[in-house]
Amino acid sequence: MIKTIFLDLDDTIFDFKACEKQALSAALASKGLVFTEADLSSYSKINDDMWKALERGEITREVLRVKRFEVFLSRFSTPVAPESFANIYMDALAKTNVLIKGARELLSYLSEHYELYAVTNGYEYTQNGRIKSADIGKYFKRIFISQCVGTVKPKKEFFDYCASAILGFDVKATVLIGDSPTSDILGGNAYGLTTIRYNPMHLPNPENAIPEREVYSLDEIPPLLASL
Ligand SMILES: [Mg+2]
Repeated sequence: MIKTIFLDLDDTIFDFKACEKQALSAALASKGLVFTEADLSSYSKINDDMWKALERGEITREVLRVKRFEVFLSRFSTPVAPESFANIYMDALAKTNVLIKGARELLSYLSEHYELYAVTNGYEYTQNGRIKSADIGKYFKRIFISQCVGTVKPKKEFFDYCASAILGFDVKATVLIGDSPTSDILGGNAYGLTTIRYNPMHLPNPENAIPEREVYSLDEIPPLLASL
């Protein structure tokens, strides 16, 4: 019987690519640069790689914040200061609120039937800004943001922090739902949580991070949870 849900936010509830695109085009426009889809692909890849390095403990959050723009901005002939660009980007990102289809319905259902917690790797400023902008904070009993926790998914310490903050926490009655093999599924499996991967693109599961269940659209989640 499932009692508690740990729910990832980016690319599970928020359409992160759409949010990223809005923020990047706004930041580039503020510097007089014209946004292209190639810019988005380039930035997304740089950002993803750096977040994975952060998850592995190879770089710090402070380094990631500016370094990703230092690398990305080198593609433009106009010089732009990465620090100032990072601030503009994060301000713009904090205002974005594009949700994945069915996300609000899912949040409403989960909050009525389970104890629902958000578990998200990200910056406090941008994640709280987006949660407020999308008006989804009301669905969660608590929101665990990696910057506030002091460590990231998939680390055991992240889940220890969440577990110790929840009265009567029962690992066997807890499900983690997320899209990322490296942060959600790897971390959830290692902690003994039941894991559900949201995998709309039918991407392969790495051998070391096989989820217990997999869904391809958010509306599959309520009946699946009821069957566990
Ligand atoms: Mg995610």
